[in-house]
Amino acid sequence: MNILETYARVAGEEVLDQLRQLAKPLQGMNVVHVNSTAVGGGVAEILTKLVPLMRELDINASWEVITGDEEFFQCTKSMHNALQGNQVPISGSLLRHYEEVNADNADKLRSTLEAADFVFIHDPQPAPLLNYCPNRKGKWVWRCHIDASHPYRPVWKFLQPFVNNYDASIFSLAAFARALPHPEYLIPPSIDPLSDKNIDLELNEIDAVCDRFSLDRQRPLIVQISRFDRFKDPVGVIRAYRLATKFVPSLQLVLAGGSATDDPEGKIVIEEVKAAAADDPDIHVLLLPPDDHRTINALQRAADIVLQKSTKEGFGLTVTEGMWKGKPVIGGDTGGIRLQVINYHTGFLVNTPEGAALRIRYLLQEPDKIEEMGKKAKEFVRENFLMTRHLREYLTLMVALLHSAVDRIELG
Ligand code: UDP
Repeated sequence: MNILETYARVAGEEVLDQLRQLAKPLQGMNVVHVNSTAVGGGVAEILTKLVPLMRELDINASWEVITGDEEFFQCTKSMHNALQGNQVPISGSLLRHYEEVNADNADKLRSTLEAADFVFIHDPQPAPLLNYCPNRKGKWVWRCHIDASHPYRPVWKFLQPFVNNYDASIFSLAAFARALPHPEYLIPPSIDPLSDKNIDLELNEIDAVCDRFSLDRQRPLIVQISRFDRFKDPVGVIRAYRLATKFVPSLQLVLAGGSATDDPEGKIVIEEVKAAAADDPDIHVLLLPPDDHRTINALQRAADIVLQKSTKEGFGLTVTEGMWKGKPVIGGDTGGIRLQVINYHTGFLVNTPEGAALRIRYLLQEPDKIEEMGKKAKEFVRENFLMTRHLREYLTLMVALLHSAVDRIELG
């Protein structure tokens, strides 16, 4: 059975019929996705699923990863931080290097990219590639996964001319859209309910993972899974945990993450987190290999509450993942988390460690609420954030771009 057929069991047959119909005008077309890391972070997580699904619909989809040196990734990480609002000036020489690395990557990818019918460029790292592909024949779409709603101006001013030249752009939510001279689409990300990260697990597998990390299944557990990035506020999570332990002394905390090859700041942040955790045996800082999806799945399932206390968040797939496991999520009141955590229904939105601690304490005293919110959270994901919806929106966008001059598109 292929992946799409297995999806029918979760999403329904009619969803597949719709996808097949939408994909018909796109069959045989070359679609290339480009990003800057093959593992780690939400974009890689999404492309791992989206590309094979497109291929199953007879679209010739592929995925290319640009390469760069340390200096390049330092520059793009600063750019990422600046686009999410941090005042981070980037030197002219670093920006020139960013363009040169893109020019080098374009030399390697040019024939593939210029021949493609659609090119999806993910995030700022590969954004200049378009400028180095003068003979492109297809439609180029810039897919911005981060919260660029209030960027540090000088950095956006540098990046915008590259983005202006695209045929369209995609943002995860309306609040993130920028003023750009082309059509902008809103497509929130999604999870694959059948992947190792999200599939149902037997209780004994969850117990075994807890044993491996010396977690006591009889005591309450809160979990945040994230790259070690300051915007994810891991140190704030530790503060929230400490405040909550005053009322729930048996509480345990897991902060689990790995690194992404395009994120050079991770090592420094891990040290900050370890220092904040000090020698508390109930704070478990776990560094996991990037493909350890079942362990993450088990930790999310073992949790009573999932946390994602980000101060900025493009979307927050970890929120979706936690909700899909029937857990209420206490999330930072920001960006894509607001799209998922419906305050008081699927979880709580918080702005401070104190706020998070208050909600942790409340929920742990009300197991029925945990259950009720968790159920609503799972349904909310089923309705809004599964891969099939995501794929349908990509296909619709592609069909729309092919027919940009007409008012009405008839599908056979
Ligand atoms: N993730 C992972 N291992 C880790 C940390 C994160 O597999 O050690 C996954 C996580 O489960 C989620 C993705 O990476 O699927 C992170 O996506 P999200 O949108 O939450 O954040 P991003 O890293 O893209 O900012």
